Amino acid sequence: MTFSQQVKGEILKSVRNIKGCCATSILTAVLKASGSLSLGFRGYCFAIESENPEFLSFVEQIAKNELGVSSHISSSNVNAKGVAVYSCELEGNVGNLLGLTYRDSEGILQFNQDAYSLIPTKPCCMRAFMQGLFVVCGSVVIPLGDTDFSEARSRGKYHLELRVSEDFAKALADRYNFLQFRQTSRKTHCILYLKDSEKIADFLVYVNATASKLKLENVIIGRSIRNTANRQSNCIAHNIDKSVHASNKQIEAITHLQNIGALSSLPQALQDIAKLRVEYPEANLEELAAKLGISKSGANHRLAKLVEIAKDKQ
Ligand SMILES: [Zn+2]
Repeated sequence: MTFSQQVKGEILKSVRNIKGCCATSILTAVLKASGSLSLGFRGYCFAIESENPEFLSFVEQIAKNELGVSSHISSSNVNAKGVAVYSCELEGNVGNLLGLTYRDSEGILQFNQDAYSLIPTKPCCMRAFMQGLFVVCGSVVIPLGDTDFSEARSRGKYHLELRVSEDFAKALADRYNFLQFRQTSRKTHCILYLKDSEKIADFLVYVNATASKLKLENVIIGRSIRNTANRQSNCIAHNIDKSVHASNKQIEAITHLQNIGALSSLPQALQDIAKLRVEYPEANLEELAAKLGISKSGANHRLAKLVEIAKDKQ
């Protein structure tokens, strides 16, 4: 199951027993975003398609219980991806009842072009409307574990989007400004999207997908721990490089002093550390200092002195 499917499943579970104003708000969102109006031998009808027959029966229930509208779910077709698709046809008057369509003065059926008027204003219904929208035209990917299929597709990115028509996108971005959607267009559609993991988490809470939100949070935390660990190991590797470089420089200096016969005339303290340095080229300052029973800064000072003398005697 993809993360999108999980979120949609969770939303549908949370609205299973929804009634009244919120139920019709979901229906409005679903038909506005994915319904198509057609004229058949029984008159006008609204049709929606889905791979999920349970979702269609949910829609059917709302239409019947809230509006007394009858509907019919037809047997499946197979889409281009080889997945069975079901279709639900609702009596055309559902459009008028929800404000999606109206009869003009000449009795001709028209679409309501005012997208703002379709978006509810009551907080409970606004939430239900967004839940319905996400189920029919939303998707979300997050970077799940390495073995997860979505990881490759999301390339380590967080992305949530709603695919809607242009006029609708503008009205939605405006009314739901607290969700902070960004907007772009793709071919014939507009995309409202979120890239920020925190904003996606807020969205999931808003649509009552709290288990999905927890899953997202675990991913965020896991990645931040991994990033910190990577940074730390990079930092350690950098320090090792630095100390190897210093050690090479010191050994070069000591070898030079030895070659020109200058080492044996140096103070005993310098000769001692020179001997140890050559013997333990990989030891760090702390280890060398411990072997001599001196401080780290003492060891550093003596090695620096050796390098300095060698430089003077080039
Ligand atoms: Zn409501």
